[in-house]
Amino acid sequence: MYKEIHIIGAGVAGLLLANNMINNGIKPNVYEQKKDIKEGNEPSGIVSIEAYNRLGFDAREAVMGSLYGARLHVNKKTFIIESKEKRAIVLDRTKLNEILFKSIKDKTNLVMGKRLDSNAIKGLKGLIVGADGYTSIVANTFGFPPINRFILTYRAEYDFKNNEKLVDLYFGEYSKGLFAWVSPEGNKEIEVGIGIDSRYGNAKKMFERFLKEENLDFGKPKKEYAYAIPMEWRKRFVKDNVLLIGDAAGQTKPISGGGISMLTKIMPFAIEAIKKEKLSIYENKVKKLLKKELFIQNRVRWYYYSKNRMYYLLKFANSIGLLNGLSKYGIMDSLTTSFKRIILRR
Ligand SMILES: Cc1cc2nc3c(=O)[nH]c(=O)nc-3n(C[C@H](O)[C@H](O)[C@H](O)COP(=O)(O)OP(=O)(O)OC[C@H]3O[C@@H](n4cnc5c(N)ncnc54)[C@H](O)[C@@H]3O)c2cc1C
Repeated sequence: MYKEIHIIGAGVAGLLLANNMINNGIKPNVYEQKKDIKEGNEPSGIVSIEAYNRLGFDAREAVMGSLYGARLHVNKKTFIIESKEKRAIVLDRTKLNEILFKSIKDKTNLVMGKRLDSNAIKGLKGLIVGADGYTSIVANTFGFPPINRFILTYRAEYDFKNNEKLVDLYFGEYSKGLFAWVSPEGNKEIEVGIGIDSRYGNAKKMFERFLKEENLDFGKPKKEYAYAIPMEWRKRFVKDNVLLIGDAAGQTKPISGGGISMLTKIMPFAIEAIKKEKLSIYENKVKKLLKKELFIQNRVRWYYYSKNRMYYLLKFANSIGLLNGLSKYGIMDSLTTSFKRIILRR
């Protein structure tokens, strides 16, 4: 096993990896530029029930609510996918990071408040893990293939009483490449956001256009944030003694930009590769597991670029009973598994 392991970045990817390492008897060094783990502006995190159960630690304190499905709005029409059972959990991401941080802090060599630059990173011996987000200095330092596709996001939090069990997703010219959302955060707050392919416009302007076009008014936001989501996996995510994970590797779901469920799926492979000191295991197994799923999700995302295309897709899916099938048998993270379950009706 590697004598030294350095994780750069204590976002959800770095923290989850460190927690899994500790559970496997490995003690990494963790470097985080924030002085306090609570700093920053984490979005709320919607994760499938399956991903929540795969987190591998008790995250109950971070749960803000549950979702049973989604309303999809396009061209002023609404399509509903609603299950009788809970399909997703809404997590307070700051709380989630805090729980993970508490559990790793005394079992790792932790350096907080230090931003590592390229020279410092090159000077590290042993295994280097880039968990440093979509602008990854680790990836740049070691010449990994670039991420070319990004979604720009703008989101706002409002005090807004609600009883919602569904998330609302809106597809329009204001959200080419992703969608806009209204998501309940418990029953007293909501998060409203928008994602747009970086080639098509300014997320804040599109956010305003979205509210106007859809006649939505939630009052004055408490907080507003802009951020980006990588929308393309790097062609490689291991090289010599360097491994990338999370947004640093571009590992998000093409249909939603969600990163946490992907992390829970790939984590066992990262741990196996690290234990065996053979990083290619991680890349090969992740690619094998997710190749088909990523291909299908990328195909579906093509429809997001045109509201009419999306409208006809949903209309067609509705007419052949696919939306009903998704309501009954759908799995949020996997279209391939969802289709299999619809066909087998279980
Ligand atoms: C608006 C929005 C909504 C989202 N909604 C969801 C959702 O509902 N569900 C979901 O699963 N995902 C969601 N995502 C995606 C999810 O937030 C990301 O995939 C996830 O945060 C990636 O985690 P990460 O640890 O890889 O990167 P980050 O969270 O970016 O963490 C990187 C960490 O590295 C640190 N760092 C960076 N450089 C250095 C350095 N040189 N030295 C030291 N430290 C460094 C940073 O300070 C940071 O703490 C959303 C994203 C956005 C923008």
